Amino acid sequence: MDKYKVVVTAKGERWVRSGHPWIFRDDIARMEEPENGTVTSFFNLRGDLLGRGFYSSHSRIALRKIVSGEVVVDDAYWRRILQQVCRAREAYLKTRDQACRLVFSEADGVPGLVADWYAGYLVLQTLIAGTDGLLTLFTDLFQELLGPKAILLRNDVEARKLEKLKPETRVLYGEMPEKLEIREGAIRYRMDLKAGQKTGAYLDQQENRKRLAAYGRPGFRALDCFGYTGGFALHQALTAAEVTAVDDSAGAVAEGRENARLNGLGNLYFVKGNVFEFLKQAEKQKDRFDLITLDPPPFARKKSEVAGAQRGYLELNRRALSVLNPGGILATYSCSHNISEFFFLEILKEAAQKTGRRVFLLEKQLQAPDHPILITFPESYYLKGLVLRVE
Ligand code: SAH
Repeated sequence: MDKYKVVVTAKGERWVRSGHPWIFRDDIARMEEPENGTVTSFFNLRGDLLGRGFYSSHSRIALRKIVSGEVVVDDAYWRRILQQVCRAREAYLKTRDQACRLVFSEADGVPGLVADWYAGYLVLQTLIAGTDGLLTLFTDLFQELLGPKAILLRNDVEARKLEKLKPETRVLYGEMPEKLEIREGAIRYRMDLKAGQKTGAYLDQQENRKRLAAYGRPGFRALDCFGYTGGFALHQALTAAEVTAVDDSAGAVAEGRENARLNGLGNLYFVKGNVFEFLKQAEKQKDRFDLITLDPPPFARKKSEVAGAQRGYLELNRRALSVLNPGGILATYSCSHNISEFFFLEILKEAAQKTGRRVFLLEKQLQAPDHPILITFPESYYLKGLVLRVE
């Protein structure tokens, strides 16, 4: 483990001591370059061991910290960590028909590993060479600890490109069904783990979707923008008179219609289209709604995209406010960690001013607790939501 030695600068040391798990290449004072993916010890300029992390040859993030100080990172270590994450998600795992995130990368102490549990099936993503190299070990450990019916590798993610890792999707163990059904509160979903977005579903919104169901009222007209396979819409259709879900992915819309049938919801309609256009048309045609959810993809994946994202969020939210009936509810989200909670509220303030509506903040939401937020690692806090009442 101490075969390679990485020495970080004084600035790098301060950064590490602040609790942030990344060491940038610029913050390395000197090193004997480790092999891509190896667990590497790193030291300060005085030669004290600071911790150990996965080394990445191709990324600007040279090291992702696994442990501070002297802890040995071996198979037994990983076994303890995975045991810990399984214990933390016990409530979801007990009921065999639910889904949850089991491992959320750095925030769960396993940098570069995502593991999602779907009612007895496990989906893994290894985002860096370090976790890529441990895939067999992780597969064995999960088999031992959870006994999943099958394990699927969904390594068809953009993030791997930055690490020069190839995209790949394959079943690692067992038999993976074409479609799988899970329960989320009062509704059921069918999903395609092999081809769906993310690892099949947006689990980070699970608690918010259930929570928003409380805002449904008989007679309501609801609109779910960026609806994917019906996440928010299905919950709302249980109480609302009529729900429309809009998404520009034909596959998602087809799945959504299946989900509406599965739940016996004849009042839920899916539209394949661009949300910006849909809202523009609704405004023009004086089509009005009582509850709108806006859950767009991340507009600012990089800092350089923040200004464009701001314009996008402003336009969306301004249009949504314009088509809400008085007393209506807007639940609006941003999953860009580069857009802070404060900044997002500022954007909504501007949207309120531009539309001349009085807008009240009813509640703030964030990603589900199975996507833990490590407060010394701001990148792990990415999803924020505002539930607003509009006069
Ligand atoms: N609310 C969903 C998740 C939404 S993810 C849930 O809870 O499950 C974002 C979705 O927006 C994706 O399904 C993507 O297909 C869709 N999308 C992205 N850009 C779009 C656009 N301009 N118009 C409509 N849909 C869009």
